[in-house]
Amino acid sequence: MIGAKIRAQSAREAAARAVREADRAEAEAWSIRMEGYGGPAQPSPTIGQCLNGGLGFLEVECNRCKTRASIPLETIRRPRNTPLWKLEASLKCRACHKGRHAPPVHMIKLTARREITPYLWVHPREEDR
Ligand SMILES: [Zn+2]
Repeated sequence: MIGAKIRAQSAREAAARAVREADRAEAEAWSIRMEGYGGPAQPSPTIGQCLNGGLGFLEVECNRCKTRASIPLETIRRPRNTPLWKLEASLKCRACHKGRHAPPVHMIKLTARREITPYLWVHPREEDR
């Protein structure tokens, strides 16, 4: 009985590890496509997949002033099953955005840790309405 429980437990852990590896592979593939080829952004992994895979930062660039920012995905107030491409339209550069008008931004890549310090960006949702 105890042996069976231990086997079930370790099978679960192995499964969780496999999912994590798959999530990471998918996030990495997307990131390479974005950085190396400029897209397409769709289809993209979800916020949850990127976090689970250990790539928790999304680097974006303002199309106007070229400022880059690294956004921690865990702070984005969206459902975890939201695909990354859906975030692009709601990300705005704080330096360039005036009232409801903001130049578009584009996504560059995913990283495991924050590689850019300045965080001058408006969070998605913060000023959506
Ligand atoms: Zn800007």
